[in-house]
Amino acid sequence: MPYSTHIAPEDFTTVRRTDVARLTSLVDRVAACRACAAAGYLAEARPIIAEAREARVLVIGQAPGPVTHREGVHFAGPAGRTLAGWFAAAGFPDGDAHKWPSLSAAWLTSLTRCFPGPSASGNGDRAPSTKEMALCRPFLDEEIAAVDPDVVVLVGAMAIRAFLGAIKLDDAVGQRFEWQGRALIPFPHSSGVSRWGNLPANKAKIEQAVALLRAERERVEREAVQ
Ligand code: SF4
Repeated sequence: MPYSTHIAPEDFTTVRRTDVARLTSLVDRVAACRACAAAGYLAEARPIIAEAREARVLVIGQAPGPVTHREGVHFAGPAGRTLAGWFAAAGFPDGDAHKWPSLSAAWLTSLTRCFPGPSASGNGDRAPSTKEMALCRPFLDEEIAAVDPDVVVLVGAMAIRAFLGAIKLDDAVGQRFEWQGRALIPFPHSSGVSRWGNLPANKAKIEQAVALLRAERERVEREAVQ
């Protein structure tokens, strides 16, 4: 299995730091990338990435949506508003580094960084293809290494599968996993397109995921003052 469950918070004691210089270099390279357009996968490649800064929590979504594409900020649309609600419920303080204040402490990213466009059915956005994800994955791997987060939040089934393999949303959300010595907390996609989160049993799983995120925030804060 690529993951393990029920790792106690006290099992993690490594003090991590973002390598801001390395992240700055990566930001420049991502911003200049047009690989998916050059390969014919996208009509327009417009990578979304923030300015480099320290962060202890890294959020990985699926791909930018239309509002993010337009505003140039990850999770700028309704999915960000829902995600911000989960972060606020987990006790993250409001800051001024993001449109949705409670997301200010997190480094936000996604499996691919360019808007894939609408889905063929017209219901939501097109999911990025395997080829697009493969082209973008080295950026994500380097981003994780440069940010060096204590906590990774996976948003949506595609992001969960990319790190945990073939696991059902039902079995992932509400659980805490370990990946490369980091706490990993899965959430469902926050866009509202999926009805999964409307079922009472799944609402309870999301509440449990928020509680796990709160415990991780408190652990990281404790370790920062030691
Ligand atoms: S999705 Fe990633 S690999 Fe593709 S063009 Fe955008 S930044 Fe480059």
